[in-house]
Amino acid sequence: MPDWDAVIIGGGPAGLTAGLCLSRGNWRTLLIEKESVGGYIMNVEYGE
Ligand SMILES: Cc1cc2nc3c(=O)[nH]c(=O)nc-3n(C[C@H](O)[C@H](O)[C@H](O)COP(=O)(O)OP(=O)(O)OC[C@H]3O[C@@H](n4cnc5c(N)ncnc54)[C@H](O)[C@@H]3O)c2cc1C
Repeated sequence: MPDWDAVIIGGGPAGLTAGLCLSRGNWRTLLIEKESVGGYIMNVEYGE
């Protein structure tokens, strides 16, 4: 099993941003999401 420098729980905007920043810094990063990537905002509906 690989060693991780960082483990992020949750693939919402915060988790994805953290993952992007850590990966750019060459941190070996694991992101764990229990439902679907995108987080709560994926449930928001847009009206006219
Ligand atoms: C009703 C409502 C409407 C909104 N409308 C808008 C809008 O129109 N525009 C806008 O910009 N913002 C909107 N927001 C705000 C936006 O949804 C939040 O600011 C944003 O989703 C927060 O991102 P986050 O990554 O902190 O958390 P979240 O989006 O909540 O992401 C957390 C993630 O972690 C995962 N998770 C939780 N526990 C675990 C676990 N134990 N293991 C693995 N994964 C786990 C969840 O499945 C989720 O994907 C709205 C919020 C609400 C409540």
